[in-house]
Amino acid sequence: MTNQTIISLELTEQEQQKLYSLFREFQSTKTPPYALWQLRPENCVITCYQSGKTVFQGKDAHIYSSHIQLIEQKDIENINSQFPQAGSDEVGTGDYFGPVCVCACIVHEKDISFLKELSVQDSKALSDKEILKIAPSLMNRLTHSLLVLDNRKYNQVHKHSNMNEIKAKMHNKAYINLKQKEQLPELIVVDQFAEKNLYYRYLRKELEIIDHIHFETKAEDKYLSVASASIIARYAFLKSMESLETYYSISLPKGAGLLVDEAAKSFAEKYGFEELQNVAKIHFKNTEKVKK
Ligand code: MG
Repeated sequence: MTNQTIISLELTEQEQQKLYSLFREFQSTKTPPYALWQLRPENCVITCYQSGKTVFQGKDAHIYSSHIQLIEQKDIENINSQFPQAGSDEVGTGDYFGPVCVCACIVHEKDISFLKELSVQDSKALSDKEILKIAPSLMNRLTHSLLVLDNRKYNQVHKHSNMNEIKAKMHNKAYINLKQKEQLPELIVVDQFAEKNLYYRYLRKELEIIDHIHFETKAEDKYLSVASASIIARYAFLKSMESLETYYSISLPKGAGLLVDEAAKSFAEKYGFEELQNVAKIHFKNTEKVKK
């Protein structure tokens, strides 16, 4: 009893569950205050608190704590090669001009080589030109659902919902639509933009909520379904920008930087300040600069 190692880790809900299911037979009958559960395997006491903090205490604390890290790594390796998988991503949330586009799609095992040949796994490295070239074949091949929230509607919705709430509702809706085309697979991955609890809180008033979603950041690098969805969403965004530019015969740069400020000024001079509602996300700071 001389070696009382204490290791404290912040675990996700999933990690907590995994840990619990591994050692559930050692569940302690007493649970300390603010704890969800306590496990007492040999030479260790594992206490999981409501805050997410999990404390490993005892001679073998390091063994049990390293265990959870190993499980996690192994699991990530495994699940991104699980097929079929559905994935979703959004585009346009950081761009002053243009809509917000969300796509959800399903990838089956038989699609893998097709997608790899198109370099889908490196979606971030693809140029706009390449996106325009490969997205139509993806749309042709994969069951997908694509939502485009145009600027007029976006500006209305944004009066009472923040950007993350808009995203959550669009992802949810994309999966509802996708489900009508094909049964959703067990693995559904959202490129994470908000904590899981927050995501579902945004949806609490929705009539239908797609749950059992796996949230992961940078998921487009790891999941072919998310990478494909990301490419299709980017394609829709580029196409929308193209048609706005044609309609107003003006160049609309991406992002929210200096070029965008200049373009917004030219646009307002040509079509009036009010018309910005139809091409831009007016709550961005860029709008104030146009007024000056
Ligand atoms: Mg994303």
